[in-house]
Amino acid sequence: MKNIFKDVLITLFGAVTSLLTAFILYWVESRWSMSFYSLMIWFIIPAGAGVSGFAAASGYYFGARFFNHKPRKIILLNMLAVSFGTYLFIQYLDYSFLEVEGKSVAHYLSFWEYLDISMTNTSVQIRAGRGHVKVGNAVELQGLGYVYALLQVIGFALGSFVLHLYLSTRLYCEKCLRYFSSKGNASRYTDNKEALADFIKKAINLLEKHNLTEIISLHAEAGSSKCDLKKHYFKTDLNLKSCKECGKHHLSVNVFKKNGKDDWDEIHDLSIGAMSMKELSFKN
Ligand SMILES: [Zn+2]
Repeated sequence: MKNIFKDVLITLFGAVTSLLTAFILYWVESRWSMSFYSLMIWFIIPAGAGVSGFAAASGYYFGARFFNHKPRKIILLNMLAVSFGTYLFIQYLDYSFLEVEGKSVAHYLSFWEYLDISMTNTSVQIRAGRGHVKVGNAVELQGLGYVYALLQVIGFALGSFVLHLYLSTRLYCEKCLRYFSSKGNASRYTDNKEALADFIKKAINLLEKHNLTEIISLHAEAGSSKCDLKKHYFKTDLNLKSCKECGKHHLSVNVFKKNGKDDWDEIHDLSIGAMSMKELSFKN
C-alpha cells in the first residue's frame, strides 16, 4: 500500500515537471518563434525532443530519490503515458493560441484536424555553420511528417526510459526501502601489468572469503594515488556504498585501461563487488 502511494506521489512529481517543460517550450516558441522541441540533428536525431524529455522526466528522478523509492515497472508505463500526453499538450498549446485572421484557429478546425494538417505540412530547413544560417529552401515533408513526429515522440520518451533504467540499476536496500549512499571511492594507477594481475587475483580470493577490509588495504598499496597519463596504463577504482539505515555495505572493484584519447575504458569482465554487514571505510 505504501508503495502504491509512493508510486502515485512520484508520478505527480513527474507530471508537474512535464507540465512545466511544456509551458517553457511554448514560451520559448512564442517569444523567439523557435521550436526548440523539434530541433533535429542530421534530420533523424531528435535532439530538442530528447533534451525536453529529460527535463520533463526529471521530476520522477527527484521524487524517487527524495522518497527513497525504487520505481517499479508500472512507473515506466506511467512515464511513457505522461510523456506522450505532454507531447500532445505541447501541440495543444500551439493550437489554442494560434490565430488566423484575428480568430482562434479552434474556430475553423478541431484539434485533431489541426494536428493532422500541422504534421503533414511540416517543413524542414537546413541550418548550417555557427550562425545556423539557412541553406536552400524549406522542404515540405508531407506524409513523412508523421515519421518526423514519431521520431520526436520517441526522443521525448527516451528521457523517461534512461532515467528509469538509471534508477532501477542503482543499489537499493530492499529491507530498509532506501537507496545506498556513497561512502567514497579511491583510485590507484599503475603501469605494472603483473602487479595489477596479482592484485585482481588476491582481491577475488578475499572477496570469496568475505574479507572486504583486506581488499581496501591491499588496494591502497596497488599503485600510485596520483595519475600520470604519460606513465600509467591501468587504473583500479574502489567504490564504497552503504545503507544508512541498517549499515549494510557494498564494495566494488573496477579495472580500467587507458585508451588512445588519454581516457579510461572499463574492463567490465574484471569488475567485482560484494555486500557486507561489516562496517567498512577507507580510513582503516
Ligand atoms: Zn538497509
